Amino acid sequence: MDIEFFGAAGEVTGSCHILTVNKKRILLDCGMIQGGKKAEARNRDPFPFEASNIDAVVLSHAHIDHSGRLPLLVRRGFTGPIWTHNASQDLCHILLEDSARLGTQDVERKNRKRARQGKELLQPLYTSANAQAALRQIRGLRYREPKEIIPGITVTFKDAGHILGSCLVIIKATENEETRTIVFSGDLGQYNTPILQDPEPIAHADVVLMESTYGGRQHRDREQTIAELGEIIQEAKKTGGNIMIPAFAVGRSQELLYLFGRHFDEWQMDDWKIYLDSPMAIEATKIYWDHPHLYDEEATRLRKGSHDMPPLKNLTLSKSADDSRSINKQKSRCIILAGSGMCSGGRILHHLKHNIWKEKNHVLFVGYQSRGSLGRRLVEKRPYVRIHGDNIKVAAHIHTIGGLSAHGDENDLARWYSHFESRPPVYLVHGEKRSARKLKEKFKADFGAQVTLTDPGMKLDLITRKLTSKGVPL
Ligand SMILES: [Zn+2]
Repeated sequence: MDIEFFGAAGEVTGSCHILTVNKKRILLDCGMIQGGKKAEARNRDPFPFEASNIDAVVLSHAHIDHSGRLPLLVRRGFTGPIWTHNASQDLCHILLEDSARLGTQDVERKNRKRARQGKELLQPLYTSANAQAALRQIRGLRYREPKEIIPGITVTFKDAGHILGSCLVIIKATENEETRTIVFSGDLGQYNTPILQDPEPIAHADVVLMESTYGGRQHRDREQTIAELGEIIQEAKKTGGNIMIPAFAVGRSQELLYLFGRHFDEWQMDDWKIYLDSPMAIEATKIYWDHPHLYDEEATRLRKGSHDMPPLKNLTLSKSADDSRSINKQKSRCIILAGSGMCSGGRILHHLKHNIWKEKNHVLFVGYQSRGSLGRRLVEKRPYVRIHGDNIKVAAHIHTIGGLSAHGDENDLARWYSHFESRPPVYLVHGEKRSARKLKEKFKADFGAQVTLTDPGMKLDLITRKLTSKGVPL
């Protein structure tokens, strides 16, 4: 019985780990590597396993850095079930289809140029048909309902509070009469986040695989964060510009709209036109609306008093490309939410190109910006950035609101771990090395926990807890 760390070991995207029990192989997530051309090219690399030899996939949540290579896995021969939460199943429909479409369009654009240059044409990573096939393999479960997915392997999901349907994955595996409980945090949300429930406590595990995105860092507290958002909106009103918010279609967009609705009068939101400029975010908002049983108390109360969620009368849903382009004519008093969240593609690029060279405008980052992404370069306040091949001056005000992140900070991660009674060993995944090291220090100091930073190719024997890397003991 072992687990091999593969993707998101030492980085924050491309989540994928391989659990082997009784010669059955289960993938935990199969995510896309994101954050710049070089990183993304690695998505095309062969997997370190035969796709057709994988027996099942357990998916923690729908975000593309956890689900994005499922169509590729299917394309390469995987035919088994993909287990996830019901709401994640719904969200995967929009996310995977969108990912296939973006990938195909990107290749078509490159191929037009390559054809002119007489170069060999590229193939998309996967097609819409591959995404459809993967979607047909998804099986939805509810929280807290154990399911034996393979004889000897039972999976139970609990709420991770990260996005709708996000799971803490509890795997109980038995081999040669030895049973081990492995807990995989997936992405862990913040406590007291809008709309969603808090991450659920878990009392027992033999081994914990845990994300470490915000190791060493603390978000501002919730009230301060919301006040900060209100202040930025006031400031932008004074400078008379637009506010662009690169937002992940699933999660951040819904929470921001929810906060705009909740503070509508206080922030004088009436003075603004709000655009949700993302067909995917529009679809995701509908899915959030359709799963009210997953809300926290406050969101449940707000939903009861309103026909629309969020209750925003000045919200325009921009579905078509023409709808999106028409926003460019608006020179002030617009709040534009568009993807992608790290500005690595999508409609936000057009809005940035039209707006960031003017000082009166504002860009508001509400999520993590990975190294190499355009979002990271803007956050680092580079004077110029490249968008669609053009060098653009950055004159707009750049704001970052860390407190709205979908990921818990260091204290949230520690709070969640504190519920484990026997202080099980922790293997850190999904974090840049610096963050993981900080979190390791904290867990050692606070809990005396045994914490290991993982690397791709590192393998953990779940019975003996011995670690090897490519066959060599560590
Ligand atoms: Zn996520």
